[in-house]
This record gives sequence, C-alpha cells and structure tokens, in this order.
Amino acid sequence: MPCQSNDELNILVKEAKKYTKDGKVADYIPALGRANPHDLSIAIHYPDGQCISAGDIERKITLQSISKVISLALVLMDKGPGYVFERVGMEPTGDPFNSIAKLETLSPAKPLNPMINAGALVVTHMIEGKNVEERFQRLLSFIREMANDSTIDYSEEVAQSEYKTSFLNRSLSYFLKQHHVIKEDVEELIDLYTKQCAIEMNSLELARIGMIFAMDGADPQSGKQIIPVHIARICKTFMVTCGMYNASGEFAIKIGIPAKSGVSGGIMGAVPGKFGIGIFGPALDKKGNSIAGIKLLELLSETYKLSMF
Ligand code: GLN
Repeated sequence: MPCQSNDELNILVKEAKKYTKDGKVADYIPALGRANPHDLSIAIHYPDGQCISAGDIERKITLQSISKVISLALVLMDKGPGYVFERVGMEPTGDPFNSIAKLETLSPAKPLNPMINAGALVVTHMIEGKNVEERFQRLLSFIREMANDSTIDYSEEVAQSEYKTSFLNRSLSYFLKQHHVIKEDVEELIDLYTKQCAIEMNSLELARIGMIFAMDGADPQSGKQIIPVHIARICKTFMVTCGMYNASGEFAIKIGIPAKSGVSGGIMGAVPGKFGIGIFGPALDKKGNSIAGIKLLELLSETYKLSMF
C-alpha cells in the first residue's frame, strides 16, 4: 500500500527542519559523512497497513544503533532472557554510546545494557549460526519479515567504511574477550556487527518494524506473532530507558515514546498499541541523536498526546 503524504505531518516537518542547522552529520564512519544534513522525513505505519508520511520517505538509511534492539530481540529468542542477562545488564549508563569507561570498573566486566556499543557487541556475539554469513542471514531474514520486504539488504560500502575505522569497537571487543565475555574472533565479530549496522531500508520500512514492537511483537496483517510478547516488552523497555543513549531520561519526559536512534540519523518509534514511526534526519545533536528528528517527535507527541506516561 503506498504511503499517503499528510498535511499535518508536513507542517510539523517544516517546523522541525529549522533545527537541522544546529546539528552535524556523523562522519566518524566516513560513508555516513556524505548525507544531506537538511533532510528530514517521517512515516507512520498503522497496524491495519495504512501509512502516512511527510518528506522523502523513499530515501534509504542504514540502521546503525537501531539494529541493536532488533539483534537483542533475536538473541532473546535464541537464548532466552536468563542466558542473555547473565552476560549483559539492564541498567542505563548516563555515558555516551561508545564509552569504554565503565567496563573496567565493573566486576565482572559485564556491559551495563544492550544499547551501548559494548553491550550490543556482546549481543551480536550471541546470534546463533555456524559462521558470520549464516548468523547475518538469520538477522536479515528476521528484519525482512518485520519490515515485510524480502529485498532489504545491507550497504556494503557503509559496512566496509565502518569495518576499516572501528578502532573503538575493536578495543571494546578485545577488552570483553580478555574477560571471557566474548569468545569469538574479534575480527569476525566486527565483520558481523558492521554488517548489522549497515542494514538499510527506507523510513516506511523502519516505521513498520516500529509497528511490530508497538503491537507487542505481532504482525496484525499476517496474523503471525513474530516476537513473543514478553521479549517485545523487554525491547520496548530498553527503548525507553536506553534507546536515545544518554539523552533517554529527557526524551522520556518530553516525548514519552519508546524509541531507538542511530548515528545515521534514523529514529524508530513504537507507540504502544497504536503505530510505528520511522524518521530520518541525519543532522545529529551532541549526543548522537537526530536533532530535528527529536524535535519532530516532540511536536508529534505534544500535538497528539502520545506520551505513554
Ligand atoms: N555502527 C555504529 C557504531 O558502532 C552505531 C552507533 C550508533 O548508531 N550510535 O559506532
């Protein structure tokens, strides 16, 4: 079903776009540095398949950290919460997403949550399969099912660009390997993780995945429970407590929607029981969240009283 451009959403996008000038596109992954900082688009996907939008929602974005909540769902389904939370914690950090600081002061060296890079690397490490290719294909199939698009793939260019420059993620991984939290070869893990982060889709597909989380893991169109309810709830809770990195508290107060952002400028939102949101606005604030995307969600939440609190 095509997505309808919506007048009210267009007004909110126009207002939020003013904030793009105060942000900066991420360039620590060189391939992301070429995005247009003034882009801003939103798609809202309803459980009955209807969709409304504003801006260029066909533009593809890589998931980056948004993938962390999806790999978490898959690993929780593979291994169960008991196994997973023995190896990665459940608490927000208040530190930047790529911080290494707390790992050394924690004993045992267990990353505080699955949304920071250290925790996400441990989660990706737990994806089952006999080699990197099979593990990646399992994650990709899971994502394709949620987005209802079998053509979704990853950007080899973005994956390679991050792989070549992942010095910090390698450091985190080697530290975790030294402490036996990660067992596999670090290069293989970074290969899988950078491919995971480089999975690309448009805002409409992102909104559809948000809708699956909003509906407690069910796909109302196919009637299939893609993610068990208790696991979808764990994921949504992490989106509230850690989804916007160290801006999650302020985001919960001002906006009150479970959401996950990525340094590509994407934000996936899940309004419980109502709809999914996919936003793309590559200009980021200092904490690595889409600056206009957050403003847009704030306007949306205020206008339509969407806060869950
Ligand atoms: N691939 C990115 C990284 O590990 C994801 C980080 C993010 O989106 N915040 O640095």
